[in-house]
Amino acid sequence: MTDMKEIEKRLREEAKKLLESGRVSVVLAYGKGCDERHPMPFAAMKPEEADEIVFNEYCTPNLARYLTKYPAGTKMAVAVKGCDSRAVVVLLQEGKVNREDIVILGIPAAGMKEQKTGKDVDASLTCGLANPVLYDVLLGQEIKGAAAESPYGIISKLDAMSGDERWEFWKKELARCIRCYACRKACPMCYCDPCFIDQTKPQWGDKTPTFDGNLMYHLTRFYHLAGRCVDCGECTRACPVDIPLNLFHKYMARECEEMFGQKAGMDPSQKPAMVDFKVEDSDTWLE
Ligand code: SF4
Ligand code: SF4
Ligand code: SF4
Repeated sequence: MTDMKEIEKRLREEAKKLLESGRVSVVLAYGKGCDERHPMPFAAMKPEEADEIVFNEYCTPNLARYLTKYPAGTKMAVAVKGCDSRAVVVLLQEGKVNREDIVILGIPAAGMKEQKTGKDVDASLTCGLANPVLYDVLLGQEIKGAAAESPYGIISKLDAMSGDERWEFWKKELARCIRCYACRKACPMCYCDPCFIDQTKPQWGDKTPTFDGNLMYHLTRFYHLAGRCVDCGECTRACPVDIPLNLFHKYMARECEEMFGQKAGMDPSQKPAMVDFKVEDSDTWLE
């Protein structure tokens, strides 16, 4: 089990050191929320603010989300757990951040809990990685042992459905969407400004929470996340009406892995699946 207090101490020390030395001007970490169960993303910008950093089992938000909020060239440090580090890798691959501008503070994390329910994070709903895939400093002992289960096991219930049943399932789920956009806001890969759905000239989709509008928003977003989603589960955790968005993202991720042999964000030296081409690539998706 992760020693949360030790991670918090190490995070504060590293943040202070990096800000004091001028190596970075921002450290993206977690700070106090309304109570212990709701820590929030926090940007420390002065050495003394490092003492406000917290870390506990409820620190689930993916802080890679905030790397693209700062002007290009800003020197930043970011605290990342397993799936979060995959998001940093995708941002590096997509040229949204430069490796020399960021310091990655890796957190080996097990035993995280849901802010909404207080229960253990269901490993089957995330990528299940305990250790970051990329870091400059690891703030604790690497967690040994293989992931408990396949990240795609949970979608067997979709596999068991016929096409019509799947369509009915998603129709019912997406009809509940209230278009708060928390899913987009929480997602490190949704950094477009403006997002397609906010554009008015041309207007790509209906912004009101009608079923057709919801379908347009979600299917387009699912498509935009193909080969890029790192399975952190943040979109689903952020959804106030509990729509299981990550089932769709996992489905797409499995397709991508099977067709192109690539899992998003695992290897910074790889080109992202959707911008790379190999002659042996599968073309079954064209059929
Ligand atoms: S789509 Fe959801 S699971 Fe995938 S990277 Fe974005 S927030 Fe994480
Ligand atoms: S939904 Fe698509 S356009 Fe909108 S922010 Fe996400 S990736 Fe960008
Ligand atoms: S967070 Fe949930 S309710 Fe809000 S836009 Fe996304 S799917 Fe819809």
